[in-house]
Amino acid sequence: MYRFAYKTYRQPLRVPLRTAHGNWAEREGIILRLEDDTGRVGYGEIAPIPWFGTESLAEAEELCRKFGSPVTDQVLDAVSETCGCVRFALAMARAHVPAPAATVRLPVAALLPAGPAAVKQLAQRLETGFLAFKWKVGVGAVDDELGVLDDLLEQLPAHARLRLDANGAWSRPQAERWLARCAERPVEFVEQPVAPADADALRGLATDYPVTLALDESVVRLADARRWQAEGWPGVFVIKPALAGPLPELIAWIAATKADVVLSSAIETALGRSAILRAALGGSLTRRALGFGVGEIFGARIWDGPVIGPLADASCIAAGTGEELWNALN
Ligand code: MG
Repeated sequence: MYRFAYKTYRQPLRVPLRTAHGNWAEREGIILRLEDDTGRVGYGEIAPIPWFGTESLAEAEELCRKFGSPVTDQVLDAVSETCGCVRFALAMARAHVPAPAATVRLPVAALLPAGPAAVKQLAQRLETGFLAFKWKVGVGAVDDELGVLDDLLEQLPAHARLRLDANGAWSRPQAERWLARCAERPVEFVEQPVAPADADALRGLATDYPVTLALDESVVRLADARRWQAEGWPGVFVIKPALAGPLPELIAWIAATKADVVLSSAIETALGRSAILRAALGGSLTRRALGFGVGEIFGARIWDGPVIGPLADASCIAAGTGEELWNALN
């Protein structure tokens, strides 16, 4: 039995994110609070991205309204698997996760802006020590972006790698042009080249080109990733844990299947991010750079948490963020 309460939040992004889905200017979500019979309090964050395929904020809020207070484990466990963001938050608020060893460090991939602005940003991020980069493509014309790709790769030191993320924006012929151009170049992988609905094209492209492909929009929830993996997907799974469902289920799946995953930000606040980093730094979930090099998203420490540099360690985990954010919200 828990005392349950929730608050919604709405935070403008310091710089709107340009993706193939359009401009994203504001993050909305829910912070929830669970207090058990012993008085232990846990916080969770619901950070949906409906255009990415998650439940909507309204759906999440409706669930929270219905939980009421007090609420039992039974009621919380009955939340539908389609509500991955709510399930992530509930598992987070009920978890007792020890802090990871201070010695563990994981590389972080820096997010570059769409378009030619990426070139200047790459130079700046290289200077601060980043060696993994992700660039959003599928936003401008293919020829223009292929030109920028050449400029980026020219700047890239031998040991650095570039990820491309098309957010499903390409047609199959466009994807083929890109993949032909990326072969034999320091491209770590190409993420979601075509839309999730075109599963045949995704499988075909993965077979036809030597470039590693990654699924992102296709694997919003853990159940989707399980299905693709069972069908023999040969590439990477980009998992945004805040959307995928309970962290313990994700951890168990990776441990059992050795799935090749990238853990990635859903532009959640420091609260959700800290839970994910705690899991990432606490175990051997991934050997790939974390997709958390998104910079200062909100421009306020309480929402952004500690700055994440080229190597994430225990200092990137914000302590006490749940209570702090809770008290800051009306
Ligand atoms: Mg992506």
